[in-house]
Amino acid sequence: MSNLFQKTSSNWARYDKYDWKEDKEGTLYITPSPDAKVSLYNPLKDSEQMVLKAVNLGLMCMDKNNTQEHLQNAIMDFVTGYGLLGFMTALPTTPDFITYHSVYLPKNHFIKEESMTTEKYLSYFFPFDKIDFVKKGMESSWSTDDVQMMALIMTMKNKPQAVMMSFQKEYAERYDWLVTLFKDWAFTFMSSFLYYQDFDKMDDMQKNLYRQGMAAFGGIAPIYHIELLDRPTIVWDFHSLLLGVQMMFSFMLTDEKSSLKVCKHCGKAFVASRPNSVFCSGKCKNRYNVYKSRAKDKDNAN
Ligand SMILES: [Zn+2]
Repeated sequence: MSNLFQKTSSNWARYDKYDWKEDKEGTLYITPSPDAKVSLYNPLKDSEQMVLKAVNLGLMCMDKNNTQEHLQNAIMDFVTGYGLLGFMTALPTTPDFITYHSVYLPKNHFIKEESMTTEKYLSYFFPFDKIDFVKKGMESSWSTDDVQMMALIMTMKNKPQAVMMSFQKEYAERYDWLVTLFKDWAFTFMSSFLYYQDFDKMDDMQKNLYRQGMAAFGGIAPIYHIELLDRPTIVWDFHSLLLGVQMMFSFMLTDEKSSLKVCKHCGKAFVASRPNSVFCSGKCKNRYNVYKSRAKDKDNAN
């Protein structure tokens, strides 16, 4: 993949421990553990691996054979590796929503209302412990007495306030939202893969369905600015991991050089190193051939 995303100002925060927790209505959330430690990392450093993990997690969520426990473990794994997705700053029209009277939401799969008060919007993400946040008109104040948070705020001064708030220990994301999001990504991936693989076998109506499904995928693009380094350089400002993954995923899907494929044996997504690769690994290739020759033996025996 080309070096489109070489430079980013966007470190993301992850905790070393998360818990599953239910609110009074029985909605399940994932949130940092009370004694968890926070650290920063650069999500673009190994973005291809991260996108692959996200897509494969989505494929797991689509597979009805997987139990909820199974999915919770896989989501826990992803979140422990990369942090929470940052729904709070991904859904509104701007990550700076705190500085407006209300929060405005373009169409999405999670919240139906087009707008709501800031307090109501925040309650989706802070279902357990209320945070110290006061809003009067356009003015708002937020404070924290967590030492880790204070250090984080010092290192990430130019992030919107809402991004910093989403790094707080009290911040939580819903299990059902995460499942929907990962499924959406996997669905998009499968559509783009199957469309070309089965092109000759599909009728016009089927092709149209794929095209429409694909056209619905998109999102608010991350913000960027240009810095005068050795040469003028684009610096990406991802204000949510969700939008970061979505955008890198979109570039991977459309990039001529790197091809995302589905393994012919295990059904997982992988990045093909050669245009004609059909297996994610040598192991899958061998297993597939073993099965194939066994099937042949069976045929011959009959
Ligand atoms: Zn495989």
